[in-house]
Amino acid sequence: MSVYVVGHKNPDTDSVASAIAYASLKKAMGVDAVPVMQGALNPESQLVLDRYGFAAPEIMTDVAGKKVMLVDFSDIAQGPANMADVVEVVDHHKIGDVTTNSPIFFYAKPVGCTCTVINEIFKTNGIAIAKNVAGIMTAAILSDTVNFKSPTCTPEDKVAVKELAAIAGIADTNALFMDMLKAKSAIDGVPVKDLLYRDYKDFDMKGNKVGIGQLELATLDQAANVRADLMKAMEGLKAEGRHSVLFMLTDVVKEGTDLLVISKDPGLIESAFGAKLSNGSMWCNGMMSRKKQTVPPLQKAFGC
Ligand code: MG
Ligand code: MG
Ligand code: MG
Repeated sequence: MSVYVVGHKNPDTDSVASAIAYASLKKAMGVDAVPVMQGALNPESQLVLDRYGFAAPEIMTDVAGKKVMLVDFSDIAQGPANMADVVEVVDHHKIGDVTTNSPIFFYAKPVGCTCTVINEIFKTNGIAIAKNVAGIMTAAILSDTVNFKSPTCTPEDKVAVKELAAIAGIADTNALFMDMLKAKSAIDGVPVKDLLYRDYKDFDMKGNKVGIGQLELATLDQAANVRADLMKAMEGLKAEGRHSVLFMLTDVVKEGTDLLVISKDPGLIESAFGAKLSNGSMWCNGMMSRKKQTVPPLQKAFGC
């Protein structure tokens, strides 16, 4: 009888890579383990599976009558329907509310990624990791730790990436992370209005309506072709009665924002951020968060 290895709902790269990697480990140990997932692959995970030659695991949302192994979660709400026979759990989150009728293998560690934990289990059991499996595990750790920048990243995650990248023959993990980021933030073919509204909010600044949108990118080049159209759409928004419309093109790698500005009073916006507009925008080093870094200086400039 097959055992199904499943990650959490709304699957990310770790939950999919962990299911595939853990199933391969269990298979090497003689268990008929099958990786499954609870929903479609996101663009980042799709890129990763394509690159290392894996087909998408079968989608399974109900496990009635089936034995399951959970990876990357242990909350009932995060699992498939009728999850009654959990036989193993491997995770890196806080312990959830899943219960069992008999003792099981339950292994969780406070590290940045489930694949880091699975790497350890492979080693403990003396089982070699296949090259392509090591590839998706490397990608998962880079994804979950945001290329080691996340506060959840630990030294163990960095060591695991070193070991796994060597097995997979990945010479440049930064390049892999960049490709994943590009896939995640791809804007090709998305209508400009949709880009403008993807993450947009209006604020009241002392009686003035100010709109601020944001796009997170792997590199500003991704938006080069739509920049002029974005500015045009921002003009349209301003014409609807706004004092200013700002749009943050945030470079996640360089950790800063090219701030596009359409305003009744460009000088006021320049003074808010201590920078000069050039060709309709200004580079704001370190600006990543609208809530924490864009809105407060503006409120101050408007005298809120
Ligand atoms: Mg996850
Ligand atoms: Mg994870
Ligand atoms: Mg994640």
